[in-house]
Amino acid sequence: MKSKDEIRKSGRERMRKWRRLNHEKSLEANRKWRKENPEKMKKAKKRWDDNNKERIRITDKLWRDENREKVRITNKKASLKYHKNNPEVSRHAVRIRRFRKKNNEGYFTTKEWEDLKKEHNHTCLCCKKKEPKIKLVPDHVIPLSKSGNNYIQNIQPLCERCNSIKWSKIVSLVQLRELVKEEKI
Ligand SMILES: [Zn+2]
Repeated sequence: MKSKDEIRKSGRERMRKWRRLNHEKSLEANRKWRKENPEKMKKAKKRWDDNNKERIRITDKLWRDENREKVRITNKKASLKYHKNNPEVSRHAVRIRRFRKKNNEGYFTTKEWEDLKKEHNHTCLCCKKKEPKIKLVPDHVIPLSKSGNNYIQNIQPLCERCNSIKWSKIVSLVQLRELVKEEKI
């Protein structure tokens, strides 16, 4: 006959075994459900994220603080990849940095620049040549050296050649064109 202790012991063993088996079973069921309900999973994750914003923010910050080098490399890689896939954005960033070095006020976006080019039918306002035959660059109507700003209103599309000839003169080719049209000059 088994002693009380032995009975208790085997009871505990059985219990542990049952839990382990059912734990695995429930894990398995869980995994299966997740696989079959990706949309519901997404929603549940979003709900959890929404309810735990502060917690996520702190955990993220802690992780980033402890993994600065990793973060730096990941960011650098992502940025390189992005710029490789978006050369126009990359060129624009370089351009803006160069314009900003001169401490002039203002900023224009890639979209504003693209819209401006479209507005002028991708044509150089000076020599009338069109892209892709020429490459249009943003020209400052009032040059940066004469304290012109970087807002899109002070920008006109010129080809690289005309831009380099115009250099530091104040010339608005849009205005000039309108004056010619109105036969004022
Ligand atoms: Zn030109």
